[in-house]
Amino acid sequence: MSDPISNELSFSQNVNYLVDRAIAAMDLEEDTAAAIKACASTIKVTFPVKIRNKIEMFTGWRSVHSTHRLPAKGGIRYAPYVNQDEVEALAALMSYKCALMDIPFGGSKGALLIDPGKYTRDEMQMITRRFTVELVRKGFLSPSTNVPAPDVGTGQREMAWMADTYKHLFPEDINYQACVTGKPVQHGGIRGRTEATGRGVQYAIQEFFRHPADVKQARLTPGLAGKRIVVQGFGNVGFHAARLLSSEDDAKIIAVIKSEGVLVDENGLDIQALHDHLIEHKTMKGFPHARFHEDGVKALEMECDILIPAALESQITCDNADRIQAKLIVEAANGPLTYEADKVLSDKGITIIPDIYANAGGVTVSYFEWIRNLSHIRFGRMQRRHEEMRSHEFAQLLEDLTGQIISDEIRKRVIRGAAEEDLVNSGLDDTMRLGYQQLSEILHRHDKIHDLRTAGYVIAIDKISRTYLDIGVY
Ligand code: NAD
Repeated sequence: MSDPISNELSFSQNVNYLVDRAIAAMDLEEDTAAAIKACASTIKVTFPVKIRNKIEMFTGWRSVHSTHRLPAKGGIRYAPYVNQDEVEALAALMSYKCALMDIPFGGSKGALLIDPGKYTRDEMQMITRRFTVELVRKGFLSPSTNVPAPDVGTGQREMAWMADTYKHLFPEDINYQACVTGKPVQHGGIRGRTEATGRGVQYAIQEFFRHPADVKQARLTPGLAGKRIVVQGFGNVGFHAARLLSSEDDAKIIAVIKSEGVLVDENGLDIQALHDHLIEHKTMKGFPHARFHEDGVKALEMECDILIPAALESQITCDNADRIQAKLIVEAANGPLTYEADKVLSDKGITIIPDIYANAGGVTVSYFEWIRNLSHIRFGRMQRRHEEMRSHEFAQLLEDLTGQIISDEIRKRVIRGAAEEDLVNSGLDDTMRLGYQQLSEILHRHDKIHDLRTAGYVIAIDKISRTYLDIGVY
């Protein structure tokens, strides 16, 4: 593919250009590259639901980009603007993300064209259950082949309805809970999944700051504490990323951008208080000690250390890319930069931590949830008390040998066995650390790779191509 000449590439064209850029840096046969890029299948479903005594028609899609590993995995989005191209692009990103992060899944994504704000909870339940039946009947939802998760406009509630609908259709399937991830804990979910994507963003940034050469190249000073961060989007991903970075790493969230505008406080916003304010007032306006401006898009151009787009795709395009002043961009959303914007920003020397790595925390913990559902046991249930007992014995032995008494507080801390959430966060942290280490290593070693995104795609495409070459195509 030659370079694009307009700013009007579709989302999937953008993704394909990024993939082509990586392929150009690799030694890969053209036909293998074509097989990797192709979207395997997409269904479009249209179905009726009776709402307030009138029949309404709804349209949804589920796309499977790759099945080199099964199940194919990816979220389901509810929004009034979705289309097939967007779903296929997002499914492709899932394939590359899972391969890069060593999550043994293929890539998939789904969407329903709907404005959830217009329907009651009961209506949303009816619509979701009907959509689920369509997906199941057409072979696009099952624990072994295709496993959805939450995305924009969906959450635990929708996942619980989907799992329950699947269970009613296949009561004999002992693994029914594994048909979706991101469920509430009391319905087979896993602790730590809700905040997993935001926490993954936090771990990604922490790992970046453990690489002094990369920090220097981004023209940042060492250490995450005190860094000035702008976050776009305050939904599941944006809220948790902002909350964790400010409360656990002492970073300063100087601006939060939502569709209605931007809230700015140079001293750092109190993220939990903002969240509570939004629940109570449904608007950022009136939040104490902060300035509100209506032009949220302009706020992407604010001077800051780190910009975290965590809302939607195509937020930074060639129209605003040259005015972006952040030193580091962390793509918590999928596809927030267009291909052309990515080029402009890279040429300006801005470091971009790409979506296929930065927001992989969600699918990582979804993978843990899927394993938990298949094994039918909570992580840590067998060993937690055993670990505590052994640690207690060691503490006792240490006291006997040294003649010193270990204080109750230290003893409590040292002997505590890992709870499920500790194990989930530890597995997530490990995955995010290893992910960044792969990216940074290949970036510094490979003379045809000049940015972390290309590094990520090269690693992912190489892993996928190896499964094609090892197993063959039939
Ligand atoms: P969400 O629906 O919970 O939140 C989206 C947020 O973006 C909302 O606060 C909304 O007000 C805001 N928003 C929408 N349009 C905006 C605009 N034009 N300007 C500013 N803000 C705007 O969605 P989410 O789950 O947080 O997903 C956000 C992004 O992260 C998406 O790109 C999604 O694909 C990606 N992602 C989500 C997950 C997950 O686990 N939820 C995992 C990986 C990637």
